[in-house]
Amino acid sequence: MRDLLMIPGPVEFEPEVLQALGAPTLSHTDPAFIALFGRALKRLREVCLAPSAQPFVVSGSGTLAMELAVANLVEPGDAALVVNTGYFSDRMAKILERHGAKVTHVRAPPGDVPSLDEVETHLSQGGFKLLSITHVDTSTGVLAPAEPLVRAARKHGVLSVVDGVCATAAETFRQDAWEADVYLTASQKAVGVPPGLALLTVGPRAMEAWRKRRAPVASVYADFAEWLPIMEAYEAGKPAYFATPPVNLVAALDVSLGQILAEGMEARFARHQRMARAFRAGWKALGLRLLPTSEAVAANTLSAVYYPEGVDAALVGGVKGQGVVVAGGLHPDLKTRYFRVGHMNRVGPADVLSTVGALERALAAAGHRAEPGAGVAAAQASLLAG
Ligand code: PMP
Repeated sequence: MRDLLMIPGPVEFEPEVLQALGAPTLSHTDPAFIALFGRALKRLREVCLAPSAQPFVVSGSGTLAMELAVANLVEPGDAALVVNTGYFSDRMAKILERHGAKVTHVRAPPGDVPSLDEVETHLSQGGFKLLSITHVDTSTGVLAPAEPLVRAARKHGVLSVVDGVCATAAETFRQDAWEADVYLTASQKAVGVPPGLALLTVGPRAMEAWRKRRAPVASVYADFAEWLPIMEAYEAGKPAYFATPPVNLVAALDVSLGQILAEGMEARFARHQRMARAFRAGWKALGLRLLPTSEAVAANTLSAVYYPEGVDAALVGGVKGQGVVVAGGLHPDLKTRYFRVGHMNRVGPADVLSTVGALERALAAAGHRAEPGAGVAAAQASLLAG
């Protein structure tokens, strides 16, 4: 029997999305492909609540989406402020530095987010071109308060770049209303498509900053100058070629974004919150502790949970033996001390109960004492409470 995939990406996908991947590949100039690519771009704008943004869909993973944002906005010597909540904030800093930025980190201990005051203090010193925020850091399961952070950047005339790889289409994000400049993501998590697409919605201030660059972008594949005419052409119903689009992935993206919009963004954000609450109730009833230091900073897209006393990373294999795939830790300082469970995209009550149940059985086999069924009962009570 197939295991249930509950890692923080890739995740379980809808059959209609997978069918689009398995369909005969169209020419990238076929009218049917032009229509679906154009529609997918429009849908991406809607999912990010970003009517004024320019969407980009490029073959690559989330790291390419990060690099596209940085390569186009940063020039050597620019100063960038990184709100650092873990491994993926460090990755953003590495990319920024590689492109010549001077990076300042605002850090918090693992499991927490830096205070808004501290971020504001740095911003008010002036000189920053860009503020980077990891909406959900997948290494720690920490949710950053994106709205006040991007608003602070805007107040100080700094471009905000938000990494939504583990958040987009699950965590509440309103790009235009909050005046966020760049939202970047990838296909394989809450966007609901197997790995392979880098996705960005780039707001007007960021496009303007790119247009005003002094020097050309130092990479051809990453240059908006190559991609913008392609995105504009497909949205206008015309074919264009720069680099061969991943035809089947784009078709799958169109299907998934259509499903996401049919559910509705508010309903989708609320469902992810409900499922995350039920998971947290389950962990608590099993006597487990979250890595995020409070519920307020705990992501709705994954749980990062410490192993209890006497249990180690072998638990992940034990859970797989129970039919559910979860992930080990990723934060460099703590990675042997916790595990991660992804809960995004098509996650529903059945997945919550299956996963908490598998954890209970694996924990019992590892010698952790808990009332049999306590985790499942608490998760169920949370689901029933709505
Ligand atoms: N940012 C975050 C928050 C992520 O979770 C990930 C991947 N887990 C990435 C960036 C990088 O994405 P990818 O692995 O698709 O390159």
